[in-house]
Amino acid sequence: AQAVIEADAVIIGAGPVGLFQVFELGLLEIKAHVIDSLAVVGGQCVELYPDKPIYDIPAVPVCTGQELTDNLLKQIEPFEPTFHLGQEVTLVERREDGRFDLETSTGTRFITKTIFIAAGVGSFQPRTLKVEGIEAFEGSQVFYRVKDPTQFHGKNLVICGGGDSALDWALNLVGKAESVVVLHRREDFRAAPASVAKMKELCDNYEMQLTIGQVTGIETKDDVLSEIKVTGADGVTRRMPLDTLLVFFGLSPKLGPIAEWGLDIERKQLKVVNTEKFETNVPGIFAVGDINTYPGKKKLILSGFHEAALAAFGAAPYIFPDKKIHMQYTTTSPKLHKILGVE
Ligand code: FAD
Repeated sequence: AQAVIEADAVIIGAGPVGLFQVFELGLLEIKAHVIDSLAVVGGQCVELYPDKPIYDIPAVPVCTGQELTDNLLKQIEPFEPTFHLGQEVTLVERREDGRFDLETSTGTRFITKTIFIAAGVGSFQPRTLKVEGIEAFEGSQVFYRVKDPTQFHGKNLVICGGGDSALDWALNLVGKAESVVVLHRREDFRAAPASVAKMKELCDNYEMQLTIGQVTGIETKDDVLSEIKVTGADGVTRRMPLDTLLVFFGLSPKLGPIAEWGLDIERKQLKVVNTEKFETNVPGIFAVGDINTYPGKKKLILSGFHEAALAAFGAAPYIFPDKKIHMQYTTTSPKLHKILGVE
């Protein structure tokens, strides 16, 4: 087992609000660990609209979701947060000493004095194929993400989806897999036009195959998934033999394990006890950004930034019980200049 990490603050979620939480904690000299189930930071801004312009960040007339994320990362650099990406926080439990045990899906364990839940709309999970009996083959013949592409070499693959992930993997695995069929429910693809063109070229050369239709059933032989049933636009269902099915239907957010930590929840949102600290009903656990709710809540990035500032002040007494915390201006405070490394 991995060693337990002792922490002052753990932030769950690396969306814009989780990232800015690092900054606000940093100004109070609190170091943070940041965990996200995605492999990249930026939350919705990066997952849902990296190239779209945002116009309502104060003093930033326009920036894209990716640019906002890059700037936040630059802004928090002085505080050297530790990122733990590609892992979902599964367990949060209060200890007798008032701190919390926290664990992730990959087995990273923490003992922390405070927790900041900046989990947005929940952790992004792959959308699954809704076909009876298919769950039994998840991880053996049916995959929603690729960890080790070599395991698909030499296999007869069917790759479902019309976005970038589906086409990127189809193009990556063609020639290495025994055969590749791209299966998409319509002629239109969301993927980059260049990838679509490349796929069509390979199909014209009989190196890959494109089928328009949807998976509507499966056949098994000796507990092995042997065929899928594919229903086309013409309403006809055809059988398609395969070794492995890769499904890329995009990601959808799920509140997930957060619901099991004893926190007050209202319509999939965490209720905060007050808007002075944005603390939940469990002392030491704060909720900021899209995940929280309180009278007047607006799910805006700028609201999340404000919440992060007050939550940091609210948490400081748990970490420095004997210290008086004063608010200081970054412009003029020599202490903050030192912390920011701008002396
Ligand atoms: P999120 O960005 O949702 O990030 C939460 C992160 O937490 C995710 O990365 C998730 O994977 C992670 N997470 C959740 N649960 C767990 C767990 N158990 N373990 C590990 N990680 C977990 N807002 C504006 O202010 N201006 C705009 O112009 C604007 N435009 C938008 C356009 C679109 C298309 C969309 C979809 C939203 C827009 N928003 C806009 C809303 C804005 O994106 C959200 O308010 C903002 O992303 C919330 O940030 P957050 O950090 O609270 O959560």
